[in-house]
Amino acid sequence: MLQIKNLHAKIEEGVEILKGINLQINPGEVHAIMGPNGAGKSTLSAVIAGKEDYEITDGEINFEGENIIEDAPEERAHKGIFMSFQYPVEIPGVSVTNFIKAAINENRKAKGEEDMGAKEMLGLIRENSEKLGIKKDFLARSLNEGFSGGEKKRNEIFQMLMLNPKLAILDETDSGLDIDALRIVADGVNSFKNEGNAVLLITHYQRLLDYIQPDFVHVLADGKIIKTGDKNLALELEEKGYDWLLN
Ligand code: ADP
Ligand code: MG
Ligand code: MG
Repeated sequence: MLQIKNLHAKIEEGVEILKGINLQINPGEVHAIMGPNGAGKSTLSAVIAGKEDYEITDGEINFEGENIIEDAPEERAHKGIFMSFQYPVEIPGVSVTNFIKAAINENRKAKGEEDMGAKEMLGLIRENSEKLGIKKDFLARSLNEGFSGGEKKRNEIFQMLMLNPKLAILDETDSGLDIDALRIVADGVNSFKNEGNAVLLITHYQRLLDYIQPDFVHVLADGKIIKTGDKNLALELEEKGYDWLLN
């Protein structure tokens, strides 16, 4: 599904941050990326999603066999790549529900499909909000306006379930994630996952991996993947930290 080859990227006018990333994600897989602060984890997720603050200086990002490096973030979204915090904006007057309806229909339009029927949309909203314990009054609130950390997280996971992407990239940058928020993310990922889709989960939290079973755990340090293993690697990292890998 996603194949990254020898990817190098830098900040516009700046130093190189990604220094030769190789990563292959197949349908049905959950990959976790861990690593010290400043390693380039968020940069990697931003570059896959197509954020424009970075310049790719070498390598390839192939999604379903097509090089997507020239695609705008919206085109990548239309192809089925979802990134958390892609839509973090506060939009007064636009409810959680109306925002996601518009996003779904925009995706359909890009594929030449008609708007989703009202009944199907309502069914989908009901199904996914029930999964996440989201109440009616939350769905009616203005997007992200005054949302707590947990509410933002719940909205983000709701967006993921509603948009039903092929590849979901979740960057858990927030060091303030409490146990409830971790559970929201874990439950969301577990109900999202199937044989046809994939998840790239970037996290500092070993604890999150107690609830989500990753197929692969990668350690990213100084712009390179320096080790890949299974979920036992995450346990080892919790016990020993990163230093033993860094020399
Ligand atoms: P991580 O998510 O692993 O903590 P980041 O990808 O956020 O790491 O950052 C990697 C390095 O690149 C850090 O040294 C960070 O300061 C720098 N960096 C990332 N994005 C930018 C940016 N837009 N402007 C300046 N420096 C950046
Ligand atoms: Mg960081
Ligand atoms: Mg980060």
